[in-house]
Amino acid sequence: MLPWLEVGFANPNGSHAAARTARRAVDEARDRIADTIGLTSGEVVFTSCGTESDNTAIAGTIAARGGVALCSAAEHHAVLDPVMHVNGVVAPVGTDGAVDANELGAQLRALREASHEVTLVSIMAVNNEVGTITDMAAIAAVVRREAPGAWLHTDAVQAACWLDLREITALVDMMSLSAHKFGGPKGVGVLTMRDGVRPDPLLRGGGQERGRRSGTTDVAGVVGTSVALAETDAERASMVEQIAALKNELVDGILSAVDGAIETVARDRTVPGVAHLCFPGVENEALLFLLDREGVCASAASACASGAMEPSHVLASMGIDRSVASGALRLSLGHTTTSDDVARAVKVVAASVARLRQRTGSI
Ligand code: PLP
Repeated sequence: MLPWLEVGFANPNGSHAAARTARRAVDEARDRIADTIGLTSGEVVFTSCGTESDNTAIAGTIAARGGVALCSAAEHHAVLDPVMHVNGVVAPVGTDGAVDANELGAQLRALREASHEVTLVSIMAVNNEVGTITDMAAIAAVVRREAPGAWLHTDAVQAACWLDLREITALVDMMSLSAHKFGGPKGVGVLTMRDGVRPDPLLRGGGQERGRRSGTTDVAGVVGTSVALAETDAERASMVEQIAALKNELVDGILSAVDGAIETVARDRTVPGVAHLCFPGVENEALLFLLDREGVCASAASACASGAMEPSHVLASMGIDRSVASGALRLSLGHTTTSDDVARAVKVVAASVARLRQRTGSI
């Protein structure tokens, strides 16, 4: 990224030589991303974050086509809120946090029979809070069958490190990514749009991104994003193996050190990077405070929502009782996580839960 923050700091939309050089860097970044996710360059639109990509897919589709938007109850608020804003429909999820394809099919059929035209279905590839992986092939098959006119969007913000995005783009019409979730800079997002899929832009103005998202492109940002995504893709297989082993150490360690601890969703249904546990009878706000004091950075709900200590809508949608959900803890693992980090986290979590239970006299 550095050259594009220094000597290459030109507006890629200009016509002079420096601008053309910057534009080449943007074109190459777009090509690199397209190659990595199995699309053509024209299908890759740069945005400012995952939230903007999700909002564009939903609000832009309803603005362009009318009709009804549908998403799952466990979506990130970047999807859920725009769907609510256009009076959309929410699909229930199972106890694992994923939408059941057959139930979705029945819901889409019922909407069709009631003459509601669903024009947008948005189902996340990986849940940000509990880490559940959605069977996107099953979802796509049902959407194509029961709502053939709908555009299928997926929020794949949490998927990039763990799943081959080529397999996802082959199934959907639009996909959202956020660079900082795979080692890129903060403040860059991607929204893919298949040929012929054209939501109205949220931002109008200079006509950048072929009129699909106006605003001057962050050259260094998109270059960094493209390299981070290509490296993530190249290293994915070995990272998945390495981090899954660390997650086993972490979750098994906590389950054996803390009486009554619950692994929220089975490991074979979740990505290696998310370890989600519940400690019934423990207030997670107090737990987070103790963990933070010991240098263990964790979250009670989704990382984006931490700070707002409301009960998690994701856990509620999975039917998890409030008394259990209030003791929820999400620990994230990534490429820098070591076995020593895991051992320390297990020790600190166990000691902190024990301390809180002593205080309240539970278990
Ligand atoms: N979607 C999911 C699943 C997320 O986890 C996040 C952020 O954590 C977002 C969307 C929002 O992405 P951004 O922070 O880039 O706007």
